[in-house]
Amino acid sequence: MTDCEIAVVGGGIAGASIASALVEHLAAGAVCVLEMEDSPGYHTTGRSAALFSKTYGPAPVRALSRASEHFFKHPPDGFSDYPLLAPRGMLVTARQDQEDALSRMVEELAPSEHVQVITEPQARQLCPLLRRGYATRFLWDDHAQDIDVHALHQGFLRRVRACGGSLWCNAEVTAIARDGHGWQIETTAGDVRAGLIVNAAGAWADEIARLAGAVPVGLRPLRRSAAIIRAPAGIDLSAMRMVIDVEEQFYLKPEAGTLLISPADETLSEPCDAQPDELDIALSVDRIERAFELRVRRIERKWAGLRSFVADGVPVAGFDPEIDGFFWLAGQGGYGIQTAPALGQLAAALVLGHPPASDFTDNGVIETDFSPGRLSRAM
Ligand SMILES: Cc1cc2nc3c(=O)[nH]c(=O)nc-3n(C[C@H](O)[C@H](O)[C@H](O)COP(=O)(O)OP(=O)(O)OC[C@H]3O[C@@H](n4cnc5c(N)ncnc54)[C@H](O)[C@@H]3O)c2cc1C
Repeated sequence: MTDCEIAVVGGGIAGASIASALVEHLAAGAVCVLEMEDSPGYHTTGRSAALFSKTYGPAPVRALSRASEHFFKHPPDGFSDYPLLAPRGMLVTARQDQEDALSRMVEELAPSEHVQVITEPQARQLCPLLRRGYATRFLWDDHAQDIDVHALHQGFLRRVRACGGSLWCNAEVTAIARDGHGWQIETTAGDVRAGLIVNAAGAWADEIARLAGAVPVGLRPLRRSAAIIRAPAGIDLSAMRMVIDVEEQFYLKPEAGTLLISPADETLSEPCDAQPDELDIALSVDRIERAFELRVRRIERKWAGLRSFVADGVPVAGFDPEIDGFFWLAGQGGYGIQTAPALGQLAAALVLGHPPASDFTDNGVIETDFSPGRLSRAM
């Protein structure tokens, strides 16, 4: 039996970010991250589109993204050998039948965000592949950036180890029981006794809650597929921007000399090792060929991942209202990478009972927006 103060269940970006923020304030050996896979980025964290956009998601998510930007641009010394962000830019397209959706988006984002409505010729300069006449309105977000997800995730985990925390891989949590004032946790790599559990188990977070006797928050893991295709010859991908449909029916993003495409599907799934569905990939190809001047001859690679949401689409970070010593960090949906620096810090402050940092409040982060108590829950 290993003793620690805090056991974090899940070594994805959520578990890694909170553990990295916690170890700074606690003694060596206090934090232990339990991950069921060989590799902590195996599930959703390793399957994202790696985009940072302050215009994406509901208002509390946008606040977290704004509050994360400083960390991305100025990570602590030694955090990563590479920049965490690289310029990209995001073009939102609307067909004639989607113009109202674009107007609503403009209204919601203006005036605080760095977005502007542009013309079709301007849009085609940003993405020469765009099919002429396909879309009628365009919104340009010049602040969207690519995230080096691997560098971010590994940076967090390196800090955990450097400050005396531990990461157990192949350690699936199979049972959780109260042990005096704390918890006894059975894992496939041995048992752990901890004062407090952080539930950062991604799509499995409701299952971990059930093991601990907590009421689930109603997580809905939604499968999203993506594929890599070859770019047409003669296109300068380094200057090309990401393009996303205003109603998220597809997106296309340059990716290391190729193109990443997705039908932006959201199919309800059990927590699992998600696999892409052939129909979703075919749908993706169809939508991409309609919107862009390109023929998809071959899929080079494809994958799927689970984006897990609660009812209001806002992440859950806070102590369970009924079960002592059980902390939730779940429901990051499609924003878990870009919000990880701020959400990890906020969650750690809540665990430790510290006041929120001033850059949270300055950026409009309100901790009660994330409280599990806001959700109506059922066993
Ligand atoms: C196609 C796609 C595109 C995306 N694009 C973006 C994007 O551009 N920008 C962005 O910010 N976000 C994006 N996301 C969302 C982002 O990837 C997620 O929000 C984020 O990765 C969630 O991180 P997590 O740590 O909660 O989950 P995970 O990475 O799934 O981590 C949870 C971990 O818990 C572990 N676990 C589960 N059960 C147990 C157990 N019983 N015992 C021990 N360990 C357990 C799992 O093995 C897993 O490693 C995208 C997601 C997908 C699928």
